[in-house]
Amino acid sequence: MQKADIAVIGAGAAGLMAAIAAARAAPAHRVVAMDGAARLGAKILIAGGGRCNVTHHVVRETDFNGSTPAAIRNVLRAFDVAATVRFFEDAGVPLKREDTGKLFPVSDRARDVLDALLRTAADAGVQVRHPCRVSRIEQTDGGFAVHAQTDGSASEVTDRSATGPYLTCGGVIVATGGRSVPKTGSDGSGYALLQSLGVPLTPRIFPALVPLTLPAGHPLTTLPGLAADVTLTVVSGSGRHLRRVSGALLCTHQGLSGPAVLDVSRHWLAARDDDPRAGVLVNWHAGTAPEAIDGRLQQHGARPIRRALAPPLPDRLADLLCLMASVDPQHSGSTLTREARRRLVTACTALPLPLTGSRGFAVAEVTAGGVPLAALTPGLEARACRGLFVCGEVCDVDGRIGGFNFQWAWASGTAAGRAAAARLCGSPA
Ligand SMILES: Cc1cc2nc3c(=O)[nH]c(=O)nc-3n(C[C@H](O)[C@H](O)[C@H](O)COP(=O)(O)OP(=O)(O)OC[C@H]3O[C@@H](n4cnc5c(N)ncnc54)[C@H](O)[C@@H]3O)c2cc1C
Repeated sequence: MQKADIAVIGAGAAGLMAAIAAARAAPAHRVVAMDGAARLGAKILIAGGGRCNVTHHVVRETDFNGSTPAAIRNVLRAFDVAATVRFFEDAGVPLKREDTGKLFPVSDRARDVLDALLRTAADAGVQVRHPCRVSRIEQTDGGFAVHAQTDGSASEVTDRSATGPYLTCGGVIVATGGRSVPKTGSDGSGYALLQSLGVPLTPRIFPALVPLTLPAGHPLTTLPGLAADVTLTVVSGSGRHLRRVSGALLCTHQGLSGPAVLDVSRHWLAARDDDPRAGVLVNWHAGTAPEAIDGRLQQHGARPIRRALAPPLPDRLADLLCLMASVDPQHSGSTLTREARRRLVTACTALPLPLTGSRGFAVAEVTAGGVPLAALTPGLEARACRGLFVCGEVCDVDGRIGGFNFQWAWASGTAAGRAAAARLCGSPA
């Protein structure tokens, strides 16, 4: 059986950062990071389409959902965007800022980000064990006993629970991620580990940044690949506007995707849980008021009405919106009745989407819900279990698209690693 001062469960973005921060803060102490996946860092490798959107040039607490903004801000301060840029620069991975404000490695290679983290962890003295899937954590007199399944002999997986713990340690940092894309190793098993130690979870844990589905055969599903700049509004059953997001929407065979849809998804899914009549309206002319579209239709003259919409809308979408408003796309603008114009303006600026659900955790980029920050100290130590720290996506914090989720992983990992080293190894906080 091995001994460590600090065991980090999960060696993804947050876990590697926590292990590096702890080992740097307490260089004379033993930090072991364990990960159940056969292939480390799968999520970093697939991030940003293989380019890894490492962070965003401005990151605020308002870019996140879940726990309170004040609690999120406290953690973000531990390691800000400038610190992230410096960290990767020092590790040999300079970042570049794109027009959207997203920061990527200059090389455009997610592999460089992962390699830099693994190299920095090794240089700091972190021992990484994988595949090493933690199945149980027990509190002991002196700390914790960690039970794990390891692939000891290349061919067989050994559950050491029966023969005793895999490792004992003074403290544990849980960085097991959420439930999204479980084939990467983040299968949600961390939640049970935390609950068994008395750490509470939010009542709901659900997919976020996830494509949404429409009924089979819905006209929009016949336009896969069609993209438009839209504004999406989540509305309650009584019509109250709950959240508005602008950006690109992409039609798919199953429904809708694209940055605006991913960003709005968690808001609609949460609203729908509370109120089954909650819906999403789409304005196909992002930011344009209905009156402006109405004015355009009225001044269109004798030309076919579809030409009042396309461009800027693609022809196929303009035709579809006319059909949804029961207006012939070839109808002359000047003879359109007021009622037909009203239907067309609604289809263009406030079309209700008959969403049926989401594509689920299999494709969601992040997980909403988890450990509320209120259950943790500012150093991310569990109030219910001293010596146990929590960081990354397993927390009830999910960011919007644009590098915010990795910034949360870097910042919360650093905060947890430093605090664990201070508490367990006596290093300065
Ligand atoms: C397709 C995709 C693209 C994305 N692109 C971006 C992007 O470009 N920018 C951005 O900011 N965010 C992006 N994200 C989100 C980002 O990847 C995550 O928010 C981030 O990786 C979370 O880091 P984490 O370390 O908390 O969790 P994870 O990265 O999920 O790591 C958790 C680790 O814990 C391990 N683990 C789980 N349970 C156990 C256990 N019981 N025992 C041992 N190990 C365990 C897992 O194997 C895994 O390696 C993307 C996500 C996806 C799915």
